[in-house]
Amino acid sequence: MWIDTHCHLDASEFDADRDEVARAAHDAGVSRVVIPSVGRGNFETVRELAQRVPGAVYALGIHPLYTPRAVDADLDRLRMEIEASLADPRFVGIGEIGLDYFVPGLDDARQQFFYNEQLKLAREFDLPVICHVRKSQDQVLKGLRRQAVSRGIAHAFNGSFQQAQAFIDQGMHLGFGGNVTFERALQIRRLAEQLPLEAIVLETDAPDIPPAWRYKARNTPDQIPRIGAVLAELRGIDENALALGTMANARAALPRLALSSA
Ligand SMILES: [Zn+2]
Repeated sequence: MWIDTHCHLDASEFDADRDEVARAAHDAGVSRVVIPSVGRGNFETVRELAQRVPGAVYALGIHPLYTPRAVDADLDRLRMEIEASLADPRFVGIGEIGLDYFVPGLDDARQQFFYNEQLKLAREFDLPVICHVRKSQDQVLKGLRRQAVSRGIAHAFNGSFQQAQAFIDQGMHLGFGGNVTFERALQIRRLAEQLPLEAIVLETDAPDIPPAWRYKARNTPDQIPRIGAVLAELRGIDENALALGTMANARAALPRLALSSA
């Protein structure tokens, strides 16, 4: 049994075959799939999708790359959606939120504002966060510390060992996916090999971040076991041990996973 802790199953790339993609994941042993939202426009979509797809769960949040089209009132809407979702066992947390210093042209004050306000919501409702951390490790961490948010996932983690340790010390788990399958991705592979297993969760970020064998093609959640096998080999451990360990870690990072069944 595996879990994909980050999959944009609502993305238009899956419009033609979404149900088949979900079924293939389930058949491959990926019993749980976490679907984060990216903005007000898809809060409803991810919720409905999680209710329709067996084993799927959802998170609600405004993604940093979607802040240019977001308005302040979206935060009020998010609060209402969170309140309405608390009784839904498939709702697992706040995400995808965070900061992006890779994509040029983002208004930094604006993305900082949305990140910070959503951290306050996480704190208020005692919910974990799923963070987008792209060239922004220190700034994302600073926000978590400032708002005392101490549970969740730093998704697609890529940083130094020191930064990784700082996230772990803050109570966060680190998400690894297709990137670890590239032999030239030395730093990510070193992290995936040497960080404590307790810190690691698996994710695809499908349709993005395809593994090496799907280079430049669409990524899908059924790739999790094969990505997990690469990670297990890197760490020199049994695939089952890795599956069990990362599954337990995902439950620790997103405790509401225990509320719904696969
Ligand atoms: Zn994402």
